[in-house]
Amino acid sequence: MISRLAVLTAIVISRATSAQTTDQFDAAGLAVSVRFSNATVARRAPELKKVLSGGLERYTELFGGPPRDSTGAPLKSLAVTVASGPIGAGDADPGVLRITIGPGPMFGFYDWRMTVLHEAFHLWNAESFRYQGPAEQWFNEGVSEFYAMQTAAKLGLISDMEAIRIAGIAVGYYTSALGYGKLSFRSAGATKGQHYFLVYYGGWVAALVLDRDLRGRTHNHRSMDDVVRRLYADFNRDTKQYTNDNVGVAILQTANEDYSVWFRNHIEGPTPIPVSNVLNLGDLARFMQARRAGISDVPAPDSLLQASLGILKQAKP
Ligand SMILES: [Zn+2]
Repeated sequence: MISRLAVLTAIVISRATSAQTTDQFDAAGLAVSVRFSNATVARRAPELKKVLSGGLERYTELFGGPPRDSTGAPLKSLAVTVASGPIGAGDADPGVLRITIGPGPMFGFYDWRMTVLHEAFHLWNAESFRYQGPAEQWFNEGVSEFYAMQTAAKLGLISDMEAIRIAGIAVGYYTSALGYGKLSFRSAGATKGQHYFLVYYGGWVAALVLDRDLRGRTHNHRSMDDVVRRLYADFNRDTKQYTNDNVGVAILQTANEDYSVWFRNHIEGPTPIPVSNVLNLGDLARFMQARRAGISDVPAPDSLLQASLGILKQAKP
């Protein structure tokens, strides 16, 4: 038998919980409504608002417009659900984000805030303009990871050194992935669950390498920002979906650089991406370490790589 006190306590907890289980706010022109599945995840409400608002504002500026709904019209509202689970996860649909917060960061570093930024990026990349099929999953997932991490650094959710360390982890997970050097991104996309680290982390590394390379070839006038903005403008989620060839054309159009051989080797073919050509993460970390210690006699850092990682404090004119 349940005592009267227990019933009363249950009612009080229920009221207290329900008062905490929703949140509403405006962000980047969207009316955001959040539903938390329990009081534990509801405690994340202030940080969720900060991360999601920061991400939505950054992405709206990046793409030059809002995410679109399933009919292609500008999105007006966003419904977010936040639950807890044994492992972190996320999912997006037009106007919808579903976030599951796990007990700790995935793979030792990937916490729920990264999931929020990754899924929010999908409101554009996948839900506003969409891949044609599995062959483009490296771009769909990898570019979303790239911008999630770059945005986490820009928003100050992770420190400069953490951003470099995490990029190093991504390179390590990519170069140790099942199928590395044998299976192309194009082929791996059909089984992205089995080849998670090749598709997500290989795609992320591809985006980071392309971004740094484009900055280097164009005196920092062009980057992946221009490429994703063009895809957002030129494609949609159902009648005009992009292919890997379209990504190559978007790079050619925005940066006047022909990456067709690069795509043939590293996207359509299994040749590993030559990471060290443009990503000298170790020397960048060493520079940051020396600067922290007040040591000035160190080689100048790669400012373009800093820009790609989202840790360049002053943008070059
Ligand atoms: Zn994703």
